[in-house]
Amino acid sequence: MAAGGLLGATGRYWAPMANAVGIAGLLPGSSRQFVWRHGSPFRLGIAAGAPRSDGFTLWTRLAPEPLLAEAVDDPAADFGLAGMPGDQGDIEIGYEIAHDPEMRQIVRSGAARAEAAYAFSVHLDVTGLAPGRPYWFRFISGDAVSPIGRAVTLPAADVETPGARIGVASCANFERGYFSAYRHLAAETPDLVVFLGDYIYENAHHDGVVRQHSDGTAATTLAQYRRRHAQYRLDPDLQALHAYVPCLITWDDHEVQNDYAGNWSETFDDPTRFRRRRAAAYQAFYEHMPLPTSSRPHGPDMRVYGTTGFGDLINIQLLDGRQYRSREACYGPVDGGGGHMETLRHCPELAEPSRSLLGLEQEAWLYDQLQQSRARWNIIAQDVLMAPFLEAQPAPEHGFGYATDRWDGYPAARRRLLQHIHAAQPANPVVVSGDIHSFWANDLHLDPRDTASPLVAHEFVGTSITSHGPDYAALMRNMADNPQIRFCDTRQRGYMLLEIERQHLTAHFRAVSDVTDPQASLATLRSFVIENGALGLQGA
Ligand code: FE
Ligand code: CA
Repeated sequence: MAAGGLLGATGRYWAPMANAVGIAGLLPGSSRQFVWRHGSPFRLGIAAGAPRSDGFTLWTRLAPEPLLAEAVDDPAADFGLAGMPGDQGDIEIGYEIAHDPEMRQIVRSGAARAEAAYAFSVHLDVTGLAPGRPYWFRFISGDAVSPIGRAVTLPAADVETPGARIGVASCANFERGYFSAYRHLAAETPDLVVFLGDYIYENAHHDGVVRQHSDGTAATTLAQYRRRHAQYRLDPDLQALHAYVPCLITWDDHEVQNDYAGNWSETFDDPTRFRRRRAAAYQAFYEHMPLPTSSRPHGPDMRVYGTTGFGDLINIQLLDGRQYRSREACYGPVDGGGGHMETLRHCPELAEPSRSLLGLEQEAWLYDQLQQSRARWNIIAQDVLMAPFLEAQPAPEHGFGYATDRWDGYPAARRRLLQHIHAAQPANPVVVSGDIHSFWANDLHLDPRDTASPLVAHEFVGTSITSHGPDYAALMRNMADNPQIRFCDTRQRGYMLLEIERQHLTAHFRAVSDVTDPQASLATLRSFVIENGALGLQGA
C-alpha cells in the first residue's frame, strides 16, 4: 500500500485507462475508466438497504486506502478520504443488477455516482423492479469489480405473505471482540437485518481491548468518524453480513457520542459546537450506510426514521431515539450529563410531560403510522430499553431510581406512546430494542409500572454483538421489584432472530460462545413465542 497518500510514484492515484478493456469498457454510461494503481477501491464491500416493494438502495464507497490519515500534523487538511483525491469531483462507476447470484441474467445496468462531497460513497436508489424477490448486484470501476451482493424487494402491501425472518443487531464495539455474531446471523440467511444502533463506537478504550480502534482516540471530526466507520467495514464478518442480508438501520448514541441527547452532549459542550460534531458524525453515518438519498444530511439534521412494510404481514416502524430528544433529566455537572440515576423526589423534571424521547414531531408521525397500519404484526424498532426497570436506591426514602438515558428517563413520553397503542389497537405490537447489552423479554403495560393494568405490547432486547454487558448480580437484586421483566440475562453476547408467521412470532435469543474467539460458535439461549391476537409471552 502506498504510504505517500494521493500522489504515488506514478504521479496520480488513479489514471485513465489507456485502453478501456474488460467489463468497464462494456458498461453503458461509464464515462471514465480508471486503473486503480493501489488496489481495489471496493475494500469496504457493498450493501443493500431501504428495501421497498419495487426496489432498494445499493451502497458502496470508493476507498482504496481505508484507514489513511492524509495529514496527521494538520487536522484541517485531514479529510478521511481513504486515498481518494479531494479535488477531482464526482466519479461515475458502473453497476449491474441480476436475477441470479452468478450475474448472468442482468436486469439492470448503468452508471452510479460516487459523490466527492460524501467521501466517494454511492447511494443508488433503484426503482421499477418486481416485488417480493431477491436480486444480486455489483459495482465496477475500471479494472476493479466489487464483491457481489444480494438485495431483496419486499412483497407489496396487499399481498398475503406467509412469513419473514428478521435479524436484530445492536452494539458492536470493535474493541471488545470479533464480530462472530454477524457471521452467524448471515449464515441464518434472514430476509432482513435491523441495526438498532451503536453500530460503531466513537470512543476508544485502554483496558479489555481485543483489537484496537485504529487511531486510539475518540472520534470528533469528520475524518475521524469516516475512518472509524471504514475500520468497521473492513471486518470480514460484517462485510459478509452486508453482502448477503439487506438492512434497515437506525442509530443510538455511540454513532456520535456516549449518551448524547439532541443537542446536549454528555460532556456539557456548548450546543452550537456539539451540533458541529453531530453534523460530522451524521454525515459519516450517511456515507457508510445503504440509506436512501432522502436520508442525506443537512448539517446536523438527518432523517433516519420511517416505515417499512413487508407484505400484509409486518410493518416495521424504525425510530430515531437520539436526534430529537429532550435533554436528560436534571442535566448538569452535579447530577450528570449522560445517563445517570434520578429519583422523582430529587428530580421532578423527570416527569414533565413536555419532555420527549422521540421529539413531538416524530411522536405524532408514529401515532399516525400505528393508527393507519393494517399489518398483522407491528414492530417498533428503536434504540433503548422501553420497559421500566426501577432500581432501589441506597437511601430507601428516596424511592426508586430511574436511568435517565432510557425510556425510564422520559416516563411521560412512554406513557403517551403506550396509551396511544392501547387506543389505536394496531395488531400485535412488539417493540425491539438495543443499547443495554443484554437479553430481555418484557411486558409493556398501559401503566408501565402497574402489571395489573392492561397489557399493551411486548418488548424484546437482543443483547450486544460484542459490547460488555451490565453486572448480572446487581441487576438480579432488583428483579423482585420489576415483575414486568419476564426474562433478563446480561452475560451473553449475540443477536436476536425474529421468525414471523401468520399465526405466531418467535424471538430467538442467539448467543456466541466467546467474543475474543474469531471462530466463536453459536447457541440458542432462549426462544419466546407470541400468538397472533393474544398478547402474552410463551416460554418466559
Ligand atoms: Fe452500546
Ligand atoms: Ca447506547
